[in-house]
Amino acid sequence: MSKLAIHGGRPVIDSPLPAYHTLGPEETRAVLEVMEGGSLSSYLAVAGEFFEGGAGVRQLEAEWAQYFGVAHAVALNSATSALYAAMGAAGVGPGDEVVVSPYTMAASATCAMIYNAVPVFADVDPETFCISPDTIKAVLTPRTKAIVVVDILGHPAEMEGIMALAREHGLVVVEDAAQAYGASLNGRPAGTMGHIGVFSLNYHKTIQCGEGGVAVTDDPELALRLKLIRNHAEVVAEDTHVANLVDLVGFNFRMTELEAAIARQQLRKVAALAAQRQANAARLTQALNGLEGLIPPVVRPGASHGYYLYALRCDQERLGVSRAAFVAALRAEGLPAVEGYVKPIYLSPIYQERIAYGMTGCPFACPLYQGSVSYAKGLCPVCERLHYQELFFTNAIHAGLGPEQIDLVAEAIRKVHRLRAELA
Ligand SMILES: *Cc1c(COP(=O)(O)O)cnc(C)c1O
Repeated sequence: MSKLAIHGGRPVIDSPLPAYHTLGPEETRAVLEVMEGGSLSSYLAVAGEFFEGGAGVRQLEAEWAQYFGVAHAVALNSATSALYAAMGAAGVGPGDEVVVSPYTMAASATCAMIYNAVPVFADVDPETFCISPDTIKAVLTPRTKAIVVVDILGHPAEMEGIMALAREHGLVVVEDAAQAYGASLNGRPAGTMGHIGVFSLNYHKTIQCGEGGVAVTDDPELALRLKLIRNHAEVVAEDTHVANLVDLVGFNFRMTELEAAIARQQLRKVAALAAQRQANAARLTQALNGLEGLIPPVVRPGASHGYYLYALRCDQERLGVSRAAFVAALRAEGLPAVEGYVKPIYLSPIYQERIAYGMTGCPFACPLYQGSVSYAKGLCPVCERLHYQELFFTNAIHAGLGPEQIDLVAEAIRKVHRLRAELA
């Protein structure tokens, strides 16, 4: 182990780590039952029993609401759809601004644009990578209508402070907990602290049903509006006697009975799957503590981290080598490691070129929009520093890995750290 693999030495991890796999015979049996029953989806876009879907979808929603301790759960065909529906349920519209994070999966920033509102980026906290009460406050204007907060990589955002700020300014808060299964803050599960919470069931998440999402809320009016937007709102609104008709242009965001059957089985496993990630992360952090120039994930007091990914930060000066060289050496040791997370969202062409809907600059140049939003490079310096200099992550933390494999992950990182002078 004295020679780095990138220089021809033997890699610490010499066979590929197992992929994350959560499906078992339970899911297969559940799908077969639906197949044999013959009804793959029971939705009807008319008021009445089947406006809310088939038996499996409604059972999933009841179980989800109970598990997370919320009044209403609304299953959809993706978390992206759930974010779109949440913006509509919140009544976001032309001329409004929605405060979003630059460091997240794109849909949790771009969702505001579905209703022709303008995304305004708040910078992230340097330790949790979430937008914070302070960074949100700095970008509020009289036009701010809502905030989309993301519990990114699984660390819960400072939801208590954010909700206090929202109350003060009359804002709707959507908490995107797509990556935060198993996370909590002062005992409250991530995803249940905003006015609406959003979960993902896509293939990459802690639990999955292929593609799927769930929105949760304690507010019956928001729940009804989410359900209307999910299922052709405009033809159903009259018969549901919904009070507020704004943004009730309907989509088809419906989940089928097959995904619902899988999701119900996955929900039963989520606590154990998340706990295994947390145990793995704790073991890895313990093994990595005190390495000069490397900072393992921070967990704030009162928070429990879901560890969708395990992100370290490096101080390249103290480390003495570049992040690029360090990560390349980790990969050579057999550790799946990636520099940065996602490019700061405002740097993508839709924001830089301000081309979204049609040729008139909508929504950025909409005459109803009285603000002047910036998407300039340098807008969110913490996010840019994290992305371009400090952060790297591995997914080798998931519940398919046991202590021996986590020890190999730790040894790969410790070896590259020990021999890093040879990378200079
Ligand atoms: C995965 C993800 C989404 C979108 O989920 P889909 O179900 O794929 O639409 C949204 N937000 C975050 C933070 C995510 O990680």
